[in-house]
Amino acid sequence: MNLTNSFFDSHSHFDDCAFDEDRDAVFEQMKAANIKHMLIPGICQQRWQKQINIAHQYQCFYALGIHPWFIPDNIDAAITELAKLIELHQHQRLFVALGECGLDKLKPNFEQQRVLFERQLQLAQTFQLPVIIHCVKCHSEVINLLKHYSLSAGGVIHGFYGSVETAKQYQTLGFKLGIGGLLLNKNAKKLQKAVAELPLDLFLLETDSPSMTPQKYQPNRNSSLILPEIAAEIANLHKKTTVFIMKQLSGNAMQLFDP
Ligand SMILES: [Zn+2]
Repeated sequence: MNLTNSFFDSHSHFDDCAFDEDRDAVFEQMKAANIKHMLIPGICQQRWQKQINIAHQYQCFYALGIHPWFIPDNIDAAITELAKLIELHQHQRLFVALGECGLDKLKPNFEQQRVLFERQLQLAQTFQLPVIIHCVKCHSEVINLLKHYSLSAGGVIHGFYGSVETAKQYQTLGFKLGIGGLLLNKNAKKLQKAVAELPLDLFLLETDSPSMTPQKYQPNRNSSLILPEIAAEIANLHKKTTVFIMKQLSGNAMQLFDP
């Protein structure tokens, strides 16, 4: 395993326009807080180029994919474009995964979401890439699809919120769980239980910034700077030190994305 002595935010939309005004300053604050690795997931065709530019500028890992909130008018054409881009980037050291893609029961066009998701799972199979999955209120559908496609490089269920039983099903499929700011919310009992009961090699740290601001910091923009706090909460649940959690969970992310 690649050992690392710094924090790894496995899911940050650092390319989002919310950071356009002060991206350099946030990046400097991150370095000062020992947050030295970050993965920027893909969102939609229109964002890919900006995302790639920012990933290279700040030396962040990146993934390419289409989020279920951004269903393209022409799914076939978008998937063809995505496949071409992946082919072009597949040997870049910083390009490490497919995503984010997935299913969201709270958003419209579930059938189209499913088509878009399956096409991306097929691409992950073809290119043997780990997948970054967005899954809201449809764990059984996602688990069934992952069983069907059996992806050799695994992946992560980002922003995981579910029970111990659901977590174990993902574990069996070789998937990691991204643990973010939800863990800091007082009423996140189910998630706290899952994190406390399951082994640490299952988890990655993430923020999903600028979204998913923990309740106590709302309405402010979320950023990777809350990562040590999430690690401290996991440390508390596992009776370990925050440094131990940082090393283990950053190592998990390196193992998945940069083996
Ligand atoms: Zn995201």
